[in-house]
Order: sequence, then structure tokens, then C-alpha cells
Amino acid sequence: MLSLIVPCYNEEESLGIFYESTLQVLHDMDTDYELIFVDDGSKDRTLAIIKEFASKNEHVKYISFSRNFGKEAAMYAGFCHAKGDYTAVIDADMQDPPTLLPEMMRILETGEYDSVATRRTTRKGESPVRSWFARKFYRLINKISDADVVDGARDFRLMKREMVDAIVSMCEYNRFSKGIFGWIGFRTYWLSYENVERVAGKTKWSFWKLFKYAIDGIINFSQTPITLASWFGVIMTLFSFLALVFIILRKLFFGDPVAGWASTTCIIIFIGGIQLFCLGLIGQYVAKTYMETKRRPHYIIAQTNTERKPVTTVQPPQQ
Ligand code: UDP
Ligand code: MG
Repeated sequence: MLSLIVPCYNEEESLGIFYESTLQVLHDMDTDYELIFVDDGSKDRTLAIIKEFASKNEHVKYISFSRNFGKEAAMYAGFCHAKGDYTAVIDADMQDPPTLLPEMMRILETGEYDSVATRRTTRKGESPVRSWFARKFYRLINKISDADVVDGARDFRLMKREMVDAIVSMCEYNRFSKGIFGWIGFRTYWLSYENVERVAGKTKWSFWKLFKYAIDGIINFSQTPITLASWFGVIMTLFSFLALVFIILRKLFFGDPVAGWASTTCIIIFIGGIQLFCLGLIGQYVAKTYMETKRRPHYIIAQTNTERKPVTTVQPPQQ
């Protein structure tokens, strides 16, 4: 069976088109399927539309959150509820073309791969600033973490059961799926396609939301920033030692003329800045640890037509 997870947030305009074309593809593939729509606290008619689909088609499942928890939580809910031998996440806005599914399935069925992931080769229709930041982000995260994140990778990927189980077992609260997919490993085939623009509606990601998400991704999968703080410390100590030698020598050879309040102030501000920066870095990790230790559920289900799985899979600590 094939499970398709569809995170939806205010998608009333694109859902109809998505549903029609996906059903067509599934019909042609002639496979048993379930369509899991995860309504991420939409404020428009999204849930009503999904319920309409469900009333006519028993393969349609829906999980509706009590508020907007974000796409990461929506995907996680989908993974926790998916029953298929194969599972895919697919956006509701047609940017992940359902027509790729048969080919992805064919590649998986050869048995050579555990997952088929997609990446867009172009960023057509995206603002240049956003693309620039995106490219820099992928370079940076690959350099400083073990999560293998491919530039242009989408969340659209078809996976075998083992991989889905691995994802469900990673129950961290701060989620960054692109990192998680890479971190768990498995043999992945990359399928490239040209960027497709959204059929209707607007993107739910503002530049700042995306920027914060990128920072989250880095903090979640790398300890390099926090190590940077210690390196700054070491370099500053060495530097101050050299400065000390310089001051002593100057005093011995040239006496001690009163001068240099400006340079002193500069040094104080410079060091103060670095200290605050490092403190902020450490704060980021402490904040993340704080959220993890609270063990809050990733999402809260308000309504569903499928069996309710425990909201979080976090296990109590072993004695
Ligand atoms: N989405 C979601 N919760 C959110 C934001 C987005 O479930 O808080 C869903 C959205 O409905 C869509 C998918 O995630 O199906 C991708 O969102 P979008 O198309 O806005 O992102 P983009 O493609 O611009 O990166
Ligand atoms: Mg989109």
C-alpha cells in the first residue's frame, strides 16, 4: 500500500486541483493507497473540503490540528499515522508533481534503493535574495554537520517502511526534516525536475520564517557554532597575551605616555561584542535543550477519521 501525506495550511484554492490530479495518477498506478491530509490549523475551508473528499472516498484520512503547528509537525503526524509499505510526503500546492510518483515507485521496486528523493534543479519564480540565502545555507550546513542536505532538495520523497519507522523514532521536538532524512542514511536515489510554481494561493513561508528555519536546521544538526565560541576564546586569549608583551616592552623602552583611550574603548567594545555573540550562541543551544526537556507533544489533534496514535512517541527515561 502507498501512503501519501499531504500537509495543508490554508490550501482551499489548490486542494481541488491537487486531489483530482493525484487521484488520476493513483488510479493509473493501480495500487492500494491512503491519502492522509494533515490540516495544520487552517483558518479557511481546507478542513471542510478534506471532509468532503473523505465522505466520498474511504481512502482519504484526515488529521486536523487544534492550531497551526507548522509543516514539520504536520509531516511528523503523517509519518506517525501512515500504514503503507511505501510512504511519500507531498505538498498540496502541486509544486511536488504527483505525476512523478509512478517513476519513483518503479525505482523503489527495483530494490536497489530505500528512498527516492526529489530536488529541483532551478529556482525559477523565486526571489534572487531568497535563492542566494538558500544556496549559502546548503553550503554551510553541509560543511558543518553530518546531515547530508542536498541543495534544492524538497520534502517530496517516497520511502520504504524501514525508513519511515526510523523517522518516527526520531522524536525530537525541534524538527528539521531535510536534516533528519540525511542523518538516518539509507540508499537514496535523487530525481531532478524543474521548479514548478504553486497552482493557487500564496506561499506560507515568509523570508524571516525561512531564515529562522535555516538557523534551526544548523543548530539542530551541528555543534560547530558552539565550538566556535571556544575558538574565539582561545584566539582572544592568545591575542591578549601578545598585547601584554607589547605593552611591557613599550613601557620599558619608551616610558608610558598617556594616550590611547580610543583604542582601549575599541578593544573593550570588540571583546564585549564577541562575548555577547558567544553567549547568544550558547543561549540557542540552551533554549533548544529547554524545549526538548519539556517533552511537549509535537501537535494536538482536534479531529480525525483515523485511529488516534499517541500524540508523542517520547519514551520515559530508562532507569
Ligand atoms: N504548510 C503547513 N503548515 C505551515 C506551512 C505550510 O502544513 O505552517 C504546508 C502547505 O500547505 C503546503 C506545504 O506545507 O502544502 C508547503 O508550503 P508552501 O507551498 O507554502 O511552501 P513553499 O513551497 O513556498 O516552500
Ligand atoms: Mg509550495
